Amino acid sequence: MSDAHDVGQLIRINCQHCNIKRHYRPADLLRLVGNLACDNAMKGMRCEKCRKADYLVAFAWNPTARELVGLSIRRLADIRMVRKVVWDDEPPR
Ligand SMILES: [Zn+2]
Repeated sequence: MSDAHDVGQLIRINCQHCNIKRHYRPADLLRLVGNLACDNAMKGMRCEKCRKADYLVAFAWNPTARELVGLSIRRLADIRMVRKVVWDDEPPR
């Protein structure tokens, strides 16, 4: 991942379910997951549209100047820790 950053690549994440492509800067993903290979960085990520994780494919992508025109890149705006409630049944007496 940091290699991708050094050579100016973007990370393209493709949801094969929605057929949506999103582009991220490696530096943003580095903040989230640390320096992992693309595949490992996908763990815990979900498609923003269908919320499915199983259909995401990520790879480092080297856009040409022409491909960069009009390309929207998702920027990391904030990282929030979410409190999640987990309930469990008491064992029967
Ligand atoms: Zn999707």
